[in-house]
Amino acid sequence: LLLAYEPAKRLAKLQVQMERAAVNAQMIYEILDTQPHQRDKQGAGSFEASNARIEFRNVTFGYGDNPPVLRNVSFVAEGGKTTALVGPSGAGKSTVITLVPRFYDPMEGEIVIDGQNIADVTKTSLRQHIAYVSQQPYLFEGTIRDNIRYGRPEATDGEVEEAARLANAHDFILAQPLGYDTPVGENGVTLSGGQRQRLSIARALVRNAPILLLDEATSALDTESEALVQQALDAAMAGRTVIVIAHRLSTVVNADKIIVMQAGQVVEQGTHESLAQQSGGLYARLNNLQAAPNGPISI
Ligand code: ADP
Ligand code: MG
Repeated sequence: LLLAYEPAKRLAKLQVQMERAAVNAQMIYEILDTQPHQRDKQGAGSFEASNARIEFRNVTFGYGDNPPVLRNVSFVAEGGKTTALVGPSGAGKSTVITLVPRFYDPMEGEIVIDGQNIADVTKTSLRQHIAYVSQQPYLFEGTIRDNIRYGRPEATDGEVEEAARLANAHDFILAQPLGYDTPVGENGVTLSGGQRQRLSIARALVRNAPILLLDEATSALDTESEALVQQALDAAMAGRTVIVIAHRLSTVVNADKIIVMQAGQVVEQGTHESLAQQSGGLYARLNNLQAAPNGPISI
C-alpha cells in the first residue's frame, strides 16, 4: 500500500510546487504528464505512433484575444530526423513547440502526427510520446533520482541510472554526498548549469519517447560542460524526431532541415547548404554574420 501511495504523494507534492512556479510555463510543461485540466474531445482516440512524422498545416495561432503570433505556418518534421527552428527573438519558435504537446490548440489549420490530427486524440496518449528539454532546466525539491524519474514515474532505479549514464550525469551524481539520493532544489546541493542541463536531459531520456522537443540553452557554458552537454544531447536525439530551437550554429548546420521564422511566419526552409546559397535570404545574411564555428546564432 505504501508503495502504491508513494508516486501519488510525489505527484501531489509536485502539483503544489508547480502552482507556486506557475509564472513560468516552460518549467511546467517540461513535466508533460502533470498538466491540470486536461480536456479531450468527446470520443477522442488514443494516439498511435509509427515513425513520428510531424506536419504543421497552415497553422494560425494567437494567445487569448491577442492578434496571431503564428500565421499560416506549414512545415514537416520528418520521422527520426532533426528539424531546427531559427529566427529572431519573438518570431514564434517557442510557440511552435508548445503546440506539439497541445498546451494550446491552433485557431486555424492542423497539426498531424503519423496521419492523426492531434486535436482528435487524448492529450495523455499524445504526451506519452513526447519529451521536452527546456532552455532553463528546472529542478524540483527532492533527490537527484526523483528529478530524473519525473520523466517516467514508473522507471526502475536501473533505468534511471542508465539514462543518467547516457546523459553524462552518472559520474557527477556519484560524486555528490549521497549519490542518487542527494537532495537538490532550494534546500539541496547546488549544481552547475551544465549539471542541471544533464539532469534535465536524463529526465527526457528516461521517458524514452519518439518525439523530442528541445529548446537549446543560450547561456554560455564552460568548454568542458559544453562538450558533456552536447554528447548528452546527441544521445537524446539519436533515432528520434527532434524539433530543436537552435541557438548554436553547430546544431543548425547538423540539422536535417532548417525552418527560418520571422514575425510568426516561415520565411525559408531547407538544408544549411541550400539556404546559405540564397543570396539576400534571411538565413544567408544570418550565416554570413556568424563567423565563429560554435558562436550563438541569434539575430
Ligand atoms: P520566440 O521563441 O521565437 O522568441 P515566442 O514563441 O516566444 O517567440 O513568442 C512569439 C510571440 O508571442 C511574441 O510576440 C511573444 O511576446 C508572444 N507570446 C509568447 N508567449 C506568450 C504568452 N504566454 N502570452 C501572450 N503572448 C505570448
Ligand atoms: Mg523562445
